[in-house]
Amino acid sequence: MKKTAFFLFVLCCIFHVLPTHAQENDIVKRSDLWRNPDKYLPTQAVRMFGLINQAMNEFTPTIGESTERKLALYLFDAMLHETKYDDSEALFQFADARMEHLMEILKQPAKKGLYIYKVYNDGFIARTKSVTIAFDIVRGKSKGRDIVNEKYIRQIVDQCDVLFLSHNHGDHVDKLTVDLFCQAGKPVIAPKNILKNNDKITHLSGDQRIDEKIKLKNGQKLQVAIFPGHQDKLVNNLYVVTTPEKKVVAQIGDQSNNEDMQWIAKLNQEITRPDALIVNCWTSPLKELVDGFNPKLVVSGHENEMGHTINHRESFWLSFQDMKLIGRDYVIMGWGEGFRCK
Ligand SMILES: [Zn+2]
Ligand SMILES: [Zn+2]
Repeated sequence: MKKTAFFLFVLCCIFHVLPTHAQENDIVKRSDLWRNPDKYLPTQAVRMFGLINQAMNEFTPTIGESTERKLALYLFDAMLHETKYDDSEALFQFADARMEHLMEILKQPAKKGLYIYKVYNDGFIARTKSVTIAFDIVRGKSKGRDIVNEKYIRQIVDQCDVLFLSHNHGDHVDKLTVDLFCQAGKPVIAPKNILKNNDKITHLSGDQRIDEKIKLKNGQKLQVAIFPGHQDKLVNNLYVVTTPEKKVVAQIGDQSNNEDMQWIAKLNQEITRPDALIVNCWTSPLKELVDGFNPKLVVSGHENEMGHTINHRESFWLSFQDMKLIGRDYVIMGWGEGFRCK
């Protein structure tokens, strides 16, 4: 045992306390818990989050549902809907572990096809061989502390060529992410009401469809169609992005507006069929909206947004329930996971 570890061990024995930065593989003495009932749940949380992380790495995302995936993600829900863990060290260790995993899988070069990675909340990365596209990447907060540490945001910015922002809400827009993209000379596309005074942002929104060619720093070009969606009355861009390989990915932020459904229901007549549509899991009517895009695959987003109270934090078990009803291929991912579309 190293000196510091031994010292900590002695301290713990003296004061009958468990280390606050408990690690998943630490040996827990039953008798320590007997003396410290308040330590039981935080200690258990370390094991639970550790197991969720392990299961997510072992049983990677698949189309539809599998018992292993459901077990892992339902446990994820259970831990993240118990507010006593909102400022627990175990939660932030888990978030770091998920981001470490994401950094690992992002290092693997995309070969043929379209890859979708979930960062946090509705933050996603879409990647083909030639381009890497970020949507709504934020750090997120729980009890005032960052969920996605800034060091991972910096690595994500390094990996990505462009950032698309859907609408002006804090769980989709993070000034730090925007500034880092701008500093790197990489395009940021956003509705006109987001960070209005930042002239490095390409502000694009209106009442009509907008078609734009976005030139990337790496010399590649994206073809983007932007549709004028809303979350209630707030402008919410719907992005349909075509990569140089002709892969099509759509992301719709927090789209939620009944009037917009009139044109969304017919969108498939004017867009190329998306290879993947990223939806906010709580949108309504979900099936009609998805049918409007007619995507090959639906990717569910916005589960476990820690800035929301638990009634609207959203959960994977509800996503499994609702996605099953849309009658299409779907994939449900947790933080720091990736999936290769067919
Ligand atoms: Zn949101
Ligand atoms: Zn919103």
